Amino acid sequence: MPVQAEWFKAERAIMGTAVHVELWHTDKITAKKYIQHVFTEMHRIDSLMSPLKKESELSLVNQQAANKPVKISIELFKLIQQSLDISKLSNGAFDITFASVGRFYDYRKKTKPTKDELSINLKKINYKNIKLNSKNQTVFFTNKGTKIDLGGIAKGHAVDNAINILQENGIKQAMVSAGGDTRIIGDKGGRPWYVGIRHPRDKQKSAVILPLSQTALSTSGDYERYFIKDNVRHHHIIKPSTGSSARELRSVSILGDESTVIDALSTTVFILGLKKGMKLISSIPNTEAIIIDNNGNIHYSTGLTKPSP
Ligand code: ADP
Ligand code: MG
Repeated sequence: MPVQAEWFKAERAIMGTAVHVELWHTDKITAKKYIQHVFTEMHRIDSLMSPLKKESELSLVNQQAANKPVKISIELFKLIQQSLDISKLSNGAFDITFASVGRFYDYRKKTKPTKDELSINLKKINYKNIKLNSKNQTVFFTNKGTKIDLGGIAKGHAVDNAINILQENGIKQAMVSAGGDTRIIGDKGGRPWYVGIRHPRDKQKSAVILPLSQTALSTSGDYERYFIKDNVRHHHIIKPSTGSSARELRSVSILGDESTVIDALSTTVFILGLKKGMKLISSIPNTEAIIIDNNGNIHYSTGLTKPSP
């Protein structure tokens, strides 16, 4: 008798965002078990890397690494290392020490750093203040007051880990997303998935719809976490040179093979702006970009063909 397979899906709020899993399987109980594995993995990463949880490994690093080298897990070590690689690649546009100033923003309370907080802490943003020692697996901050936050890369890492878990269990067709980070293995039963990039100024609308299979997509936007004060939009993507939100673009989507890198790259290109951002993307193999600028115009990297209207 032929075995019937079907799509199983579930959604949870984890890491301050909506995590969504869909997979194709013949057995309901097994499918649910794998979906649970994914949620458990996301919770694990959240408790390791959340800047809001005082006992997270990341919080311990922020509390101690300016005093002495702190021994950390290989997972955190590698993610910090990858972040530093992207800092070098982007000339410091991507910089996890943005948190030295970024931690003074509260988007719910609509508060931003005071003038003093900004002037004192802006000089503490510099990825070169982070010293990794691979022999001892430690991290050290050369500057007191330097803080890190992996919000620009950790969700991508979580999505990649989730996909790895599904692949290790023999899953061939699945989609996992965490907020703006999506990764697809296989396709949707012989057809692509149709994934929308949100219109940056209208929640109900998609600006672009992409047919995707076997790929990863990451979007950074100025509409995820923000408040508007005196006509200025203060959002969560911070330009390291100014300590304020990057304002040249509204949304950046990056397509690539794996989520971790493109998660960081979407944040990076958002800060770099259209010209420098496109230049960076064209230098990285198998990576494309869709950028929505401040006038709402959509720009495609050279490897993408513009969809007909
Ligand atoms: P989302 O978290 O909505 O998926 P992004 O992938 O664009 O969005 O990541 C934005 C997050 O990146 C911010 O919430 C913050 O934690 C972090 N971030 C902000 N500015 C920078 C920066 N200059 N370098 C590295 N990370 C940053
Ligand atoms: Mg990102």
